[in-house]
Amino acid sequence: MADMVFKYSTMNGGKTLNILQTAHSYNENNFKTILIKSITDTKGNDSITSRTGLSKKVDILLEENESLLTEKNYKIYYTAKIILVDEVELLNKEQIKELWMIAHLINIPVLCYGLKSNFKGEIFSEGISEAFAIADIIEEIGSSSICHCGKKATFNARKEKNEFTDVGPTIIIDDGTKEEYEYVPLCSDCYLKYVKIKSPEAQKLAKLVEKIK
Ligand SMILES: [Zn+2]
Repeated sequence: MADMVFKYSTMNGGKTLNILQTAHSYNENNFKTILIKSITDTKGNDSITSRTGLSKKVDILLEENESLLTEKNYKIYYTAKIILVDEVELLNKEQIKELWMIAHLINIPVLCYGLKSNFKGEIFSEGISEAFAIADIIEEIGSSSICHCGKKATFNARKEKNEFTDVGPTIIIDDGTKEEYEYVPLCSDCYLKYVKIKSPEAQKLAKLVEKIK
């Protein structure tokens, strides 16, 4: 039977380009490809759009609590060679479990693309925890973005009105309508330095460093 693969990266880490390139290669060989994303992802409306200008309409725009195991959805994907799902951090636990079952019971490979952590540095959602728990293969997308210091970025920091912050709602979609918010990929060193430096743990360690010289 087929596998469910979870591919993660930071924001701007090449996920969308990877998904569109994969879809393109399958389509070139006349293999039916199914693209899925959550309706919560308002960026590009009903399409998956990369910053390089590539774009493709999704086959299933999944409602927040919609099941993939309905007759309507099954008819869309049951003859597919591959299912590609963008921004899986916006899917719930049940939807991730359904994708895994589709791979293993119907034998269609499922590639899930998403973010590992949110701007607070925590696992993004229940859906992501589920993906880590049950995916057959877990891969970091190789072209992950680079922090401004030159190290590999592993955090998705958020700026609100140009200031780094770790408070606020988990999901603010970067769809071009919320100019006060900006996402910045950072390495651990820079994430600690710019975002978490005022946290009780960082302050405690700073005091120890100061005390025991
Ligand atoms: Zn850095």
